[in-house]
Amino acid sequence: MYKDLNTSVRTLMTPGPVEAEPRVLRAMCTPILGQFDPEFTEIMNETMAMIRSVFQTENQWAFPIDGTSRAGIEAVLGSIIEPGDRVLIPIYGRFGQLLTEIAERYGADVVNIETDWGQVFNPQVVIQEMQRVKPKIVAMVHGETSTGCMQPLQEIGAACRALDILFVVDAVATIGGTAVKVDEWKIDAAIGGTQKCLSVPSGMAPITFNARVEAILLERKKIERGLADPSTYQKLQTRVIRSNYFDLSQLMDYWSPARLNHHTEATSMLYALREGLRIVLEEGLTVRFARHKLHEQALVQGLKAMGLEIYGDPNCKLPVVTSIRIPAGIDGESVRHRLLQDFQIEIASSFGPLKGKIWRIGSMGYSCRKKNILHVLGALEAVLIRHGAKVYAGRAVQAALDVYDNIEV
Ligand SMILES: *Cc1c(COP(=O)(O)O)cnc(C)c1O
Repeated sequence: MYKDLNTSVRTLMTPGPVEAEPRVLRAMCTPILGQFDPEFTEIMNETMAMIRSVFQTENQWAFPIDGTSRAGIEAVLGSIIEPGDRVLIPIYGRFGQLLTEIAERYGADVVNIETDWGQVFNPQVVIQEMQRVKPKIVAMVHGETSTGCMQPLQEIGAACRALDILFVVDAVATIGGTAVKVDEWKIDAAIGGTQKCLSVPSGMAPITFNARVEAILLERKKIERGLADPSTYQKLQTRVIRSNYFDLSQLMDYWSPARLNHHTEATSMLYALREGLRIVLEEGLTVRFARHKLHEQALVQGLKAMGLEIYGDPNCKLPVVTSIRIPAGIDGESVRHRLLQDFQIEIASSFGPLKGKIWRIGSMGYSCRKKNILHVLGALEAVLIRHGAKVYAGRAVQAALDVYDNIEV
């Protein structure tokens, strides 16, 4: 009655999900192990060590949350925010709004500052606001996939540490594609994603946090135990971590040698993440980040040679997402439709105020390679011509090849 699953082989040039590494997909076919099987706990330990390496941290705590990237965000924010806690969230795109929405659901007293989309914050503006608002937590997005901008974090991290404020960073889009230096930038908790620059399917969120965060978790766990005393019950109840699934204090026991049972680990996803991280570390972080920059340059030069305008401030461009202004009079969705139908290529539109105004091209992980960049440029040129757009025909692919020929030996 239902046909065999037989999906098209697409060229995925969106900011996620991107094409999975073939080795990752093969790893997912590995037989299932019990979650306390010593072979499996060894895989858990290796994965934790590799997560530390990609986050460039010495933190003891580094493990995946089962669920998509926002599950990682919820686990971190929900485990450290107590009702009434003040949280400062600077917004420069859609995912700053997501941090706000999650923090509010856990009862935070959120203070937002906003800057125009297509820009990032001058760190001094954030630091001044921190001094004024005196929050417990500052939560920020590192790479805003909705606009294609990347926020410098080092100065803000240093200021947070000096003022004893916790610094939480959404590095979902950047991890594995550009540097995320958790220790050097004094990030207290960071959340990554799998389906972006790690080229693993969606379904897990690697996170890391330090002893400053751990202290809060242990304190809240102690409170949970104290609930047995009826005289303090009412007062303490509101301070207990609200989610069971996302309770980091329980997850610490699950991912530590104690191995206290929590949920059933997502076996095949863990195989996938382990393989994805292994590929990242085999390539080496420096080489991998340089590869992403090279293909970004080829893409940008190609788009400009065609006569298209890159959206956003070039000084804060996110290297793994390139946003393009949709030329006047062109139906952006119709262009995306033909790219998919005729060329098997998917690029993205955007959200909110940018809907219908920009396209976004991801160059992430396994999708970030010469063949894909050249294909997307050639196809976009052809489709734009079909739509009657004025482009400089024949130049885009040549400009990209110039970048490759000049850099590759
Ligand atoms: C994709 C993305 C998310 C959300 O990830 P899901 O896996 O869809 O939950 C959060 N933050 C940023 C910056 C992202 O790019």
